[in-house]
Amino acid sequence: MPATRSAPAATDQLALPAPRPRRSRGPQADYDVVVVGAGAAGLSAALTLGRACRRVLVCDGGPPRNAPSPGVHAFLTRDGTPPAELLRLAREQLRPYETVQIQPLRVTAVSRQRGGFCVSAVAASDEGPAVPVTARRVVLCTGVVDEWPPLPGAAALWGRGVLHCPYCHGWEVRDQPLAVYGRGKTGYGLGLLVSRWSPDVVLLTDGPAGITPHGLARLRAQGVRRLDRQERPNLPTRHLRRRRPRPRPATSHHRGGRGELGRHQAQRRADEGRV
Ligand SMILES: Cc1cc2nc3c(=O)[nH]c(=O)nc-3n(C[C@H](O)[C@H](O)[C@H](O)COP(=O)(O)OP(=O)(O)OC[C@H]3O[C@@H](n4cnc5c(N)ncnc54)[C@H](O)[C@@H]3O)c2cc1C
Repeated sequence: MPATRSAPAATDQLALPAPRPRRSRGPQADYDVVVVGAGAAGLSAALTLGRACRRVLVCDGGPPRNAPSPGVHAFLTRDGTPPAELLRLAREQLRPYETVQIQPLRVTAVSRQRGGFCVSAVAASDEGPAVPVTARRVVLCTGVVDEWPPLPGAAALWGRGVLHCPYCHGWEVRDQPLAVYGRGKTGYGLGLLVSRWSPDVVLLTDGPAGITPHGLARLRAQGVRRLDRQERPNLPTRHLRRRRPRPRPATSHHRGGRGELGRHQAQRRADEGRV
């Protein structure tokens, strides 16, 4: 017999509905698949798995990355839809697939066990005791977390005045004065890219630019101005606070996995020499 935890114990403590009876042969487990994360990726995985008659538990640990954004763009048929509405629609379309359960659970650990995985989860709303469920497969859809450069005031404007992707949000601020925050290859590339949306772009390098003479020449040719001075307490906030026209720096930023699970993944990537 494969080493599995019994489904009733796990579901009793978390008040989960009993998993649907399994159809496939193979090792016993509470679910065929546990999907960690109920953002666009997690719900897409659940849809495909539900349509394949798999018993699926989707663990919804909290809001998606784009929660602060007023609308999702560049998504055919859903341009401008608020992120929460997009996920509501996805959940509605999942309703007919009765083998799929979505629960407010935050996964704290995943371990290998014979024939599958043991997934520990706590209620997303409070810390409570971790409860294990077993699954033949685990799909990690935990997204990424944006790590901020130390710019006072920027976090509060994230998704509205401070934007990360010109393809997602550039059209809304086209032809306005825009500031790009970044240096080196990233700042240079983003400066050139953003100049497609506005003729008035300034690149804020917040210190030495680290851009090659060729790169600087290309920025100049494209009409992108450059500000190298390190005036961190004043410069970005002054730009962000001006009312109209509103410059909206597109920040370059780092992204990492979420929470303990994300840190574990990041550590594994680092251990394997990957980023
Ligand atoms: C401000 C902003 C605006 C954006 N605008 C656009 C746009 O206009 N168009 C576009 O195409 N893209 C846009 N994006 C990108 C888009 O948000 C992401 O591509 C998309 O959210 C990725 O979906 P995902 O499911 O991979 O991750 P997410 O949407 O981040 O979902 C991951 C989910 O996993 C959950 N989770 C994490 N860890 C755990 C855990 N341990 N247990 C349980 N659950 C967990 C999280 O709470 C979250 O709900 C934007 C991003 C940002 C930040």
